[in-house]
Amino acid sequence: MTDLIDIAIIGGGAAGLAAGLYSAQGGMKTVIFEGIIPGGKLGSITHLTNYPGFSNGTDGFTLAMEMEKQAKKAGAVILNEKVTSLVLEGETKQIITNSNKYYAKSIIITAGAAPKPAGFANENDFIGRGVSYCALCDGALYKNKRAAVIGGGNTAISDAIYLSRFAEKVYVIHRRSEFRAIETLMENIHTKTNVEFILDSVVTKAMGDEFLSSIEVLNKVTNESTTIEVDGVFVAVGIMPNTEFVKAAGVKLTDEGYIITDELMRTDIKGVFAAGDIRNTPLRQVVTAVADGAIAADSAMQYVRTELNA
Ligand SMILES: Cc1cc2nc3c(=O)[nH]c(=O)nc-3n(C[C@H](O)[C@H](O)[C@H](O)COP(=O)(O)OP(=O)(O)OC[C@H]3O[C@@H](n4cnc5c(N)ncnc54)[C@H](O)[C@@H]3O)c2cc1C
Repeated sequence: MTDLIDIAIIGGGAAGLAAGLYSAQGGMKTVIFEGIIPGGKLGSITHLTNYPGFSNGTDGFTLAMEMEKQAKKAGAVILNEKVTSLVLEGETKQIITNSNKYYAKSIIITAGAAPKPAGFANENDFIGRGVSYCALCDGALYKNKRAAVIGGGNTAISDAIYLSRFAEKVYVIHRRSEFRAIETLMENIHTKTNVEFILDSVVTKAMGDEFLSSIEVLNKVTNESTTIEVDGVFVAVGIMPNTEFVKAAGVKLTDEGYIITDELMRTDIKGVFAAGDIRNTPLRQVVTAVADGAIAADSAMQYVRTELNA
């Protein structure tokens, strides 16, 4: 493909596929670059219960396939290529992938963010079967069950407060003796009678058969290991935006590495937009990713039509 692309979308997750749908339906020559498989993190959601329109929930993989089909039907082209760098100065932007170079009038970056793993044994084996990286998504499944949250920041404490509404018991396991969460969250969590803190400790192993049933916890001060029976472990030790190639291209990022956009999803570089988990958003969910994608596509179309007079 050597022609100039109207709107190039980097990342084919929920945000990228929604942006691709809107852009292609708007008559733009649209190419979505996806480094792994369309759908992104949607593919790891076994039961998606908070996406409007599915009263019985749906699985993320099926939704991803439908979004991909819809974007392609509208005319978007999906290329299975990983973007390694971008050149963003001037009106024509360059997209360099692992195998080719492309030129576009406008770019929407939707490369997402990945939760950091905690690093305990069997963590990957129990993902979706007791190990979760999203309390807001999976918390309701732990009604009257026992859950643990790993982490000591705002996300971990918010997750534990949220889970305490459903779960019979919530353990907060933190590797240090003090938390980094803001005071109001700490005051709130101390009012929860079903929350127990396990400090100076790390989870070393997840155990169970088909589903998680217990975890091994090591106290780093005493060097003692104990086994705690839990049905779920929520890992909240941070997430990493996929912005290395974006940073190198000079797009303005937050201290944590997220792309800074305005409400029209514009970055600080003309003709460059961002949407979904990769941007500085207050909520990282499927519903917000697709909404961002639609807004970014609309803004990019206006940019191409009015500012470039295309
Ligand atoms: C385990 C888990 C469960 C979740 N459960 C829920 C839930 O129940 N409900 C809910 O609303 N949300 C849930 N979420 C959050 C939700 O999945 C995300 O907010 C949403 O999918 C983000 O979409 P995105 O398109 O912004 O990013 P992503 O889904 O991360 O997509 C980014 C895409 O970009 C691609 N990419 C990255 N770098 C490059 C590159 N250099 N070149 C080309 N392609 C690249 C990736 O391969 C990926 O496909 C969950 C998240 C996780 C991890």
